[in-house]
Parts: sequence; structure tokens; C-alpha cells
Amino acid sequence: MQRVLSGIQPSGQLTLGNYIGAMQNFVRLQDTYQCFFMIVDLHAITVPQEPEALREQTEAVASLFIAAGIDPAKAAVFVQSHVRSHVELSWLMTTMTYMGELERMTQFKDKSAGKDSIGAGLFAYPALMAADILIYNADLVPVGDDQKQHLELTRDLAGRFNSRFGDYFTTPEPYIPKVGARIMSLDDASKKMSKSNPNPGSYIALLDPPDVIRKKLSRAVTDSGREVKFNPAEKPEISNLMSIYSHCSGLSLEEIEARYEGQGYGGFKKDLAEQVVSVLEPLQARYNEIRQSGEIHRILADGADRASAIADKTVRDVKEKMGFLLPK
Ligand code: ATP
Ligand code: MG
Repeated sequence: MQRVLSGIQPSGQLTLGNYIGAMQNFVRLQDTYQCFFMIVDLHAITVPQEPEALREQTEAVASLFIAAGIDPAKAAVFVQSHVRSHVELSWLMTTMTYMGELERMTQFKDKSAGKDSIGAGLFAYPALMAADILIYNADLVPVGDDQKQHLELTRDLAGRFNSRFGDYFTTPEPYIPKVGARIMSLDDASKKMSKSNPNPGSYIALLDPPDVIRKKLSRAVTDSGREVKFNPAEKPEISNLMSIYSHCSGLSLEEIEARYEGQGYGGFKKDLAEQVVSVLEPLQARYNEIRQSGEIHRILADGADRASAIADKTVRDVKEKMGFLLPK
């Protein structure tokens, strides 16, 4: 069975962007692939996190995975730091990664822009991400469009290792949705929606109460026209809202255009809010049940056991190939 690996950082409240760009595909893939879905806490600390918030968000993200429909009987759901081999392989990968490659990463440029002190971890992060993927010899990595560049580096590192030390790693393929791979911010359609954006009005959090969702969407920036038309180059704001509408309602972009022809933005935005609420309300109900039951800890322990069995063996094999003296 082919393998799938992906992760989400507990760096804030999960957004509709994370759901549409990544999590929905996790759920779709779990029936046909052996899946590993992690909460990547080691990635989250590449920018400063409050300890209590990090712990809470880690449990929240794990519970949202289950609430979104990931079945822990099928997929291993675990916390990255619980599987220690990730850090070990990450160091081995870091030594094979070139500074120039890391300097080209647009996420590093975006996240370090305007900051005085930039942690070395933020710079080296793509080598940890490569280790996360290669450690399971994943075939497919469901991610949003913003992670394409990191995945390209992972593929290069797999090839570099294989040509130096002999074939071992699988070269992973990205799995990116056709529509919704890059949901944009509600306050600025030139930036992607991000959970670590300091302005909560820029994103819909999966746990936002219905009234907050309605308010955020009614305030979402739009152009001064009144035509509900999908045209990302000229109407990026309304096109972004249409992608969200399409995902939540199951209607195609053409069907949405037809439905709102000649009606302006007001009614469209109101209906959009109801579509989003109709998807998130049941998800929130399941989330609350999972949090109350406390079962997430057992799910994470089981997931970490299943993941460690594979990850530990990979690190042993890799060290052997690289010439480490292994303990007898
Ligand atoms: P941060 O701002 O802390 O980086 P984030 O919202 O970018 O948070 P990540 O944990 O970095 O979330 O990414 C988790 C997954 O969600 C990745 O697969 C990423 O590609 C996807 N993703 C993130 N933002 C979006 C978006 N706006 N649209 C579609 N997919 C997204
Ligand atoms: Mg991100």
C-alpha cells in the first residue's frame, strides 16, 4: 500500500485555508493509502510560541483532525515530537542541504521579513520537513500550494541521498487540490490565509462561532464592482470568496456565477456565510465531543507507536548507509 504523510503546525487556530487546502484531502486519501498525519509541534517552535498556548493548540489540532473525519483506525495520527526519530533524521538531512537552497525558500523570506532576530530553526525548517516525509518513504504529500517549494527540495534531497549512498528513499509527489490550494486572506487577497496572522479578521478559524463567521465574511474586502465573476487576476477578492463558497456548497464556480448574476455582492456574502456555517457547525459539535471525552490522548499514543516502528527503522538504515557505527 502506498504511503501518505502530511502535517499541520499547532501555531494558532486552524483556518478554513488549512481545511480546504490540506485536511479535506487527508480525509479523502485515508481509505486508499497508509496515512500518517502529524501535528508538527517542532515546526511551530520555529517562531516563538507561548508554552501553554502551544500545548492547548496541539491538543486542539489533533482533535480537529478527528472531528474533520480522520479515522484513527485507518490513519496514524500523532504529535511530531512524540516520534523522536524525526529530529535525528532532520540533522542528517540538514548536513546534506545547501545554504543556497534554504535562502531561496519563499516561506523563509516571508516569515523573516522585517524581523531583527530570526531563529536558525526557521531557516533550517525545510530539512526537518524533508525528514518528516522521507522517514516514512511517503509516496504522496497532500499540501496547499504554499508548500510546493519545500516539497521540491525534499525530492532533491531524496535524490541526493540516493545517488551518494545508494537507492533508499522514495521520491514523494505533492498532492495539491485544483481549486482551493491557496485560500487568500479576507483583508488582503494578495496574501494567503494564515493561522499565524495577527489579525483574526484575516481568517475564518474552524472554531469561530457562527456569529463571528458571519461578521468576518460581511467585512471581507471586495472590489468596488458588483459582478460575482471568477477572475483571480482582476477580481482576486471575490474569486477567493467564490472558491470558499464552491468548496462549502459543492456548487461549481459557473453555478455560483449563474445564481448571483445581476445581484451584487451583499446577498452573495450573506449566503456564503451560511454555507460556511453549515460546514463548520457540525465539525465544531464533533470537536467538542472529542475534547470532552479525553480520548485524544489514547489516539495520539497509538499513532506515535505505529509511526515510531517505521521511523526508527528508517533512521537505523540511513545511519548504516552513511557509515555510522551502530550499537550492537
Ligand atoms: P502558519 O501561518 O503558522 O504557517 P498556516 O496557516 O500556513 O500556519 P501550516 O501549518 O503552515 O498552516 O500549513 C498546514 C497545511 O495547510 C499545509 O499543507 C499548507 O499548505 C496548508 N495551507 C496553509 N494555508 C493555506 C491556505 N491559505 N490555502 C490552502 N492551503 C493552506
Ligand atoms: Mg504555513
